[in-house]
Amino acid sequence: VKQATRVALGQLLGEAGLITEETELHYYAQDVFAQGEALAAVIRPSSRAQLAEALQLLKEAKVDVLVRGGGLSYTNGYLAQQAGAVLIDMRACNEEIDVHADDRYVIVDAGVTWAALAKALAPYKLRTPFFGPLSGLRATVGGALSQGSAFLGSAQHGSVADSVLAMEVLTVDGECLRTGSWTHGEPFFRHMGPDLSGVFVGDAGCLGIKTRVSLKLIPEPAECAYFSLECADCESMIGALTALAQNQLGSELFAFDPVLTQKRMQRASILDDAKTLGQVVMKQGVLEGLKLAVQGRNFVDVNKYSVHMSLEAGDAAGLKLKLNQVRKLALKFGKEIDGAIPRVLRTQPFTPPNSILGPLGERWVPVHGIVAHSKASAAHHALQAFFAASAKACAEHQIEIGYLYTAVGAQGFLIEPVFYWPDARGAFHERELDSVVLARLPKHAPAPKAYEAVCALKKGAAEVLRSHGACHFQLGKFYPYREGRNPAALALFDAIKKQLDPDGRLNPGALH
Ligand SMILES: Cc1cc2nc3c(=O)[nH]c(=O)nc-3n(C[C@H](O)[C@H](O)[C@H](O)COP(=O)(O)OP(=O)(O)OC[C@H]3O[C@@H](n4cnc5c(N)ncnc54)[C@H](O)[C@@H]3O)c2cc1C
Repeated sequence: VKQATRVALGQLLGEAGLITEETELHYYAQDVFAQGEALAAVIRPSSRAQLAEALQLLKEAKVDVLVRGGGLSYTNGYLAQQAGAVLIDMRACNEEIDVHADDRYVIVDAGVTWAALAKALAPYKLRTPFFGPLSGLRATVGGALSQGSAFLGSAQHGSVADSVLAMEVLTVDGECLRTGSWTHGEPFFRHMGPDLSGVFVGDAGCLGIKTRVSLKLIPEPAECAYFSLECADCESMIGALTALAQNQLGSELFAFDPVLTQKRMQRASILDDAKTLGQVVMKQGVLEGLKLAVQGRNFVDVNKYSVHMSLEAGDAAGLKLKLNQVRKLALKFGKEIDGAIPRVLRTQPFTPPNSILGPLGERWVPVHGIVAHSKASAAHHALQAFFAASAKACAEHQIEIGYLYTAVGAQGFLIEPVFYWPDARGAFHERELDSVVLARLPKHAPAPKAYEAVCALKKGAAEVLRSHGACHFQLGKFYPYREGRNPAALALFDAIKKQLDPDGRLNPGALH
């Protein structure tokens, strides 16, 4: 970036809005997993007007532009493939949360986090149907929409794509466009003719910069219950998760394999337990808190699979009915255990992202695919076979593999292998983990060969999942978008990209 552009950006954004210091740029050039090419600068606009003006300056300077929300992704989404790009940090665009309670929608700045949104909606006893990823303490609404995202509320209400109504997007040249009913009026409705909101969902920030978003609102459920099931094997877990998902009984519905359970239990240090317990006591009354304390951490057998869900209803009778249905379906597949895991998760859905390092300070990265329920078992077996064939490399580099499984609506079975391996932390980890937790974790020496082996396992696992028809969220620059795509659909996508970003300056390399 030329000196003149820097000076102009500095004048526009002030000292806090323009970052050029080496250490800071180094941090911004990393995500949870990877290191990108060097950035020329990071800008932090604090309003849409500032952002639009900055985009004009960057257009004149002809530089590549990348966008970052909370930064909590691991698929190179906001990392540069070539040195010299400018990264826009959207976190200061977080002023507006405009609740239209009577019309059941909320307009929110793209830089607002899911935790901040939930807090703002609480007094209205309203929430968005999908109400955030587990990274929602830091992850933003704009980031989730640009990646596709699922977890809180997803078994019932699907992914973030199913909760959005309309968007306001700036093109890389600074032009403002709107979607849904926002094209001609208030953003209360999504569909009138072709769905332009959908074009920008999961675009990895390569079609435009989301500035404001309108999301659906629903009443907070009056009643909530929790249910957990222990399963002897993987097939029973898949059977239970499918039956529960397809009958639309849970709000969140997820499962762990034994390795992930072991990791979670290792992580549940005395400090974390005390903190969580405090929250449970505060929110749900002393009795629930004490119950958790007495049960301690031994409520799940670490050698078994476990399924967890939260259930919601408008009244106690409705909840009882749902819970009866859940038991009727689930108990064919395993044994009921205390629902402490889904209960704790609901009590404290947004915690610091301490799990980006393993319980022994090892590195962490997941990979995933969403398959049809009928394909889940075959996809899982194929993954197990693939990992078994890589057992030598895993042993050599001490790579451990666990699994998380999540229901996304009634159609999606998300399978997420998670890798752990001893390796050095990056600047990203040093900054993002809670400092108390970080101080207690052992450090590891750099292990570039192990990192390479994990890259190969990740890539291979994604291929195995795709061979079972899988879709992916979080495409970024890791999951292939173009591969095997219908040529006419691809030509349409290319034409849209060309229209919105004729010089290909916005997030080059994304959706490859
Ligand atoms: C501990 C942990 C837990 C997680 N849990 C979940 C989970 O439960 N469910 C889930 O789906 N994912 C989860 N994730 C993955 C990830 O955090 C989420 O996908 C999250 O939505 C990313 O949001 P972000 O604001 O951090 O986006 P970033 O990482 O900053 O960016 C993601 C992508 O979006 C683009 N982008 C960001 N903001 C904008 C914008 N305003 N306009 C245009 N493009 C933009 C970026 O260019 C990038 O390509 C988790 C990750 C971690 C580390």
